[in-house]
Amino acid sequence: MTVATADPMTAARGLLRSVFGFDGFRPGQEEIVAAVSAGRDVLAIMPTGGGKSLCYQLPALARPGVTVVVSPLIALMRDQVRALRAAGVEAGALTSANTAEENDAVFAALSAGRLKLLYMAPERIAVAGGLLRRAGVSLLAVDEAHCVSQWGHDFRPDYLRLGELRRALGGVQTAAFTATADAETRAEIVEKLFDGPPETFLRGFDRPNLFLAFAPKTRPREQLLDFVLPRKGRSGVVYAGSRNKTEVLAQALREKGVDALPYHAGLEPATRQANQDRFQQQDDMVMVATVAFGMGVDKPDIRFVAHADLPKSVEAYYQEIGRAGRDGAPAETFTLYGADDIELRRRQIDESAAPEERKWADRRRLEALIALAEAPRCRRVTLLAYFGEDAAPCGACDLCKNPPRLFDATVLAQKALSAAVRTGERFGAGYLIEVLRGEATEKVRARGHDALPTFGVGRDLDAGRWKGVFRQLTALGLLRPDPERFGGLRCGDGARAVLKGERVVEMKEDTRPAKAERRAAPAALVAAEDEALLSRLKAKRRELAEAQGAPAYVVFPDRTLIEMATRKPRTLPDLAALHGVGEKKLAQYGKAFLEVLTGGATTEDHPAQDRLDAVDRALYDALTAAQADLARGPDGTEKYMTLPRATLARIAAARPASLAALEAISGVGPQKAARFGAVFLSLIAAHGADR
Ligand code: ADP
Ligand code: ZN
Repeated sequence: MTVATADPMTAARGLLRSVFGFDGFRPGQEEIVAAVSAGRDVLAIMPTGGGKSLCYQLPALARPGVTVVVSPLIALMRDQVRALRAAGVEAGALTSANTAEENDAVFAALSAGRLKLLYMAPERIAVAGGLLRRAGVSLLAVDEAHCVSQWGHDFRPDYLRLGELRRALGGVQTAAFTATADAETRAEIVEKLFDGPPETFLRGFDRPNLFLAFAPKTRPREQLLDFVLPRKGRSGVVYAGSRNKTEVLAQALREKGVDALPYHAGLEPATRQANQDRFQQQDDMVMVATVAFGMGVDKPDIRFVAHADLPKSVEAYYQEIGRAGRDGAPAETFTLYGADDIELRRRQIDESAAPEERKWADRRRLEALIALAEAPRCRRVTLLAYFGEDAAPCGACDLCKNPPRLFDATVLAQKALSAAVRTGERFGAGYLIEVLRGEATEKVRARGHDALPTFGVGRDLDAGRWKGVFRQLTALGLLRPDPERFGGLRCGDGARAVLKGERVVEMKEDTRPAKAERRAAPAALVAAEDEALLSRLKAKRRELAEAQGAPAYVVFPDRTLIEMATRKPRTLPDLAALHGVGEKKLAQYGKAFLEVLTGGATTEDHPAQDRLDAVDRALYDALTAAQADLARGPDGTEKYMTLPRATLARIAAARPASLAALEAISGVGPQKAARFGAVFLSLIAAHGADR
């Protein structure tokens, strides 16, 4: 696969098309590839999903020798290796999960000089020095380079040995990559990994294909279901704040027919791995996870990320939503937040054992996220401003689409602030709302707060709306929970000016959207008339992927199928022009997909379906839907199984009245009769068996 030309960039561009099937570079990739190809040390900061891997993979293919890639997570490495091999590249991985045979194969390829990319787990760094010296390493690529930072949450002590390895390899050229934009982390990477300053690239953080939305929690469970249910059948992640919550939400989703599983650090390792493997493999599953489900996720076709609770910082938020839509196709994000979340996050920082300066940095990042949640205008503008980028309103976030109504909340703010001041700045929102609403509870009376002038001045607003006011005051920094006083609310900077009437406070109306709006339709991937074709293409992909036990996206990412459904290529050369269709994949899958595109594969099915009359067709549709629900068994954990459409058509036409009769229909058999029989028979009965 190595192409030896005088100009490394010409070679790189050729490989971009022939191996990866991409038409051009993503923003930033080209400069980085050029610098790496020219032999310079590089530190590249690129957003998650920006396409870092290509920046070392292309130069690796275009040069002699092997490129060693250090990456912190085994699952991620295995996926990368699998994807590279699927594209026809000689790649291997050395990890603790390897079998002896796998190790031998890697060593053999390495000593034969065939291996182009060797992925290595950090804990192998120490032992691999000698082996690698002999192998002729021409480039050291360090993925997730921020793992070298002792301040960071992803710190990997083994990363500190990278400097050693680099020297053992005679100061080999090094390229480091991270998605962490932080200036201090960057400085730490340079100090620990390089001997002199590397050429540094800081790439744009915008992810235009991500739709951004937030909502204050009103009925959290319902709000979450309203977001996920219309997206059933798409691959998604729901992040939740606790282990228990991931289990409860996954269960709730399963009850609604969504193929959802939990993921958290408290699960048995085998279960956790199995859940992750299934998620990775399928293109229609929802993982309900704690943030433990993190760096190991490298699935390009995640179509949505939802947060059931507020993440801990704007960086964490960005990283978590960044797992959606890496393939560049539209993806949606939805973040719920409430006053309790904000308080919890603040308390976690206050109570952490981190040094004071670290706590301040964490607070700053949390406050930036709260400001984003409460932003009055375009989310993207607000988010990118945090990363130091200017942007125009995107027109695609929730605030651009439905600009919130802003109102003058100065009087409300004054009432709330004075309730806090007059009760001694010692109480939380719940208690202050009782005072404002004139609720003479035992505690209120015991403290004499029913005699305050503020008592009852807020009767006109219900407790829910007051909660919103307190939440926004906190987000604006006008009230701050005091960790020394159990989260009692104190006045922040500017509160005095508000109380004196010198400052106007603007707030967003907390509206509860109409039912239709709450169940917002998912982002369309293709035009309505192409949807049927897209799902046929997906079915073909699933069939091919399952046949080889590989994740669906390894066959082709969503983006490729979307292009197929939209552009409808009818020949192999047309197909080869699409995103993600390299030479190897064209040869391997081209024909199968062309058959779907030209209707070839369906000739067997269509006549059967066409023979169905209207009543049969209704039954056929019902059977199709039922089998999709049961494809992985009633609780979604069994072996994947479906019936060909021709068989479903036969069943709809024959209407068997017993299990035996169903089983006898060609294409059914005992296993499938056991899985689908009961439901099918009841559907047949409902549609009138044996007319
Ligand atoms: P990250 O920066 O998060 O490591 P990856 O390297 O995994 O991102 O790339 C994210 C996705 O973008 C992958 O699915 C990859 O195939 C795709 N991609 C990368 N470069 C390009 C490109 N030039 N054109 C189209 N897709 C690309
Ligand atoms: Zn916007």
